[in-house]
Amino acid sequence: MKKKAVKIYDTTLRDGTQGEGFQLSGLDKLRIARRLDAFGIDYIEGGWPGSNPKDVEFFQEAKSLKLKHAKLAAFGSTRRAHTPVAEDAQVRLLLEAETPVVTIFGKSWEMQVTEVLRTTVEENRAMIRDTVAHLVKNRREVIYDAEHFFDGYKDSPEHAMRTLEAAAEAGASCLVLCDTNGGTLPSEIMQITMEVRKRIPKTPVGIHTHNDCELGVANAIAAVKGGASHIQGTINGYGERTGNCNLTSVIPILQLKMDIPVVPHLEQLRELSYFVDDVSNNPHFPRAPFVGRTAFAHKGGMHVNAVKKNSRSYEHIQPESVGNSQNILVSELSGQDNILLKATQLGLPLEKGSKEAKIILKRVKELEHQGYSFEAAGGSLELLILRELGKHRKTFDLTEYHTSFRQYRDGHAPVCEATVKLSVDGTPELTVAEGHGVVNSLDLALRKALLPFYPDIAKVSLVDYKVRIIDGHDATAAKTRVLIVSTDGESSWGTVGVSENIIEASWLALADGIDLFLQRHANKTKRKSTGSKR
Ligand SMILES: [Zn+2]
Repeated sequence: MKKKAVKIYDTTLRDGTQGEGFQLSGLDKLRIARRLDAFGIDYIEGGWPGSNPKDVEFFQEAKSLKLKHAKLAAFGSTRRAHTPVAEDAQVRLLLEAETPVVTIFGKSWEMQVTEVLRTTVEENRAMIRDTVAHLVKNRREVIYDAEHFFDGYKDSPEHAMRTLEAAAEAGASCLVLCDTNGGTLPSEIMQITMEVRKRIPKTPVGIHTHNDCELGVANAIAAVKGGASHIQGTINGYGERTGNCNLTSVIPILQLKMDIPVVPHLEQLRELSYFVDDVSNNPHFPRAPFVGRTAFAHKGGMHVNAVKKNSRSYEHIQPESVGNSQNILVSELSGQDNILLKATQLGLPLEKGSKEAKIILKRVKELEHQGYSFEAAGGSLELLILRELGKHRKTFDLTEYHTSFRQYRDGHAPVCEATVKLSVDGTPELTVAEGHGVVNSLDLALRKALLPFYPDIAKVSLVDYKVRIIDGHDATAAKTRVLIVSTDGESSWGTVGVSENIIEASWLALADGIDLFLQRHANKTKRKSTGSKR
């Protein structure tokens, strides 16, 4: 890969979570950060430690992430007016996050300084200068986000420029021009970015746009044309109001249309997009450019005929380059690469075009049609591959399960009870457990039943549970998809279940979670015993 001319800065975990309906738990954030890193994102903004204690906790846990490529950034503001920077509690929290990068935002718009901050333009510049210098002195890479830069520049260019100079002189590594209200047009963005580059040629310039005029992506591209070399945005464009610049579109535009390499595995883009949707429990947007289900779908007879002769006739890129596929020809090979990659990771290499690969792909497509989604459920995909290859060993046979829910009217906490009847190698076991909810009680009963046969099952616990209703189409009833994350304390894995019944969907995901642990564990003991000479 050529040297990167543009760095990608992801703020899904911070600005993205400002969006309505986009909530992430601490665990979700860690999972997404790991994915972004594997995909080749350069910077990951994890949160604002000064704004909420949950973000402080995230940075605490993120210390164990061991990112391979990306640098983690903590976000915050400049020091408060008339407060020495070393005494500013919010700035102290930024340092305590112990990230290699700190991004701070400051005011560029004179109106905001005098009317909102109610201080002088001189003090505003001192706040920027002091904060950047203090963080640089503490050996942080400091990225400066110039809030409302374009609005501020249009009002008073000299004031806006001088705030940037203050950040640059204090040692900021990048000056990020923000279109905070999302109202600027691409021509203005390009023009003003060029002016900034001319005035401050030594410090790289970045761009942070919002999508209020549906120009978030166009404005980021315009800034690059004007000399910006750093783009901030979110996966799938999540963010407050109408969202942020959509990295899922910006990245392929840079890489495929402008010949600016930004990530090593662009073909994993679609998977990343679905992953973030699934983890945040949001429906996938079918008309999303590049990664949407219909992005390369052809309906009109003439178009279908033409794309069959030459796909370029109605497709602006090769769908496979972003991990998508043409939606009419349903080629036998489409989508195969992801499955082959997963199988290789499992130590079960498959040959492209082989009978096994085709069978597995067919099964995945059938299940996806039923409402399954494997992007955040690698555990279920692993089991599917094992089953189709005949390498799955039966760990238990379910005979039946039963659940009940008791709601009292006297203030007594509600109780869920689950019964699980199963057998292991013909030995039956029946257990009952009480829990806080249906899934909790089923999980307890299942693990209790398996414990006598597999003592290690005690290590496994359920850490996350998400339910989504999938719209019924083609006159079918609505289905429920349940995603579960389990852990054994060392690693975690996601599994999925789909059914018209929420309890059955939960059971399927639960049983997969437990079964996967047993598959892996059984493999481990077998390998160990063949290696030892006892
Ligand atoms: Zn923003």
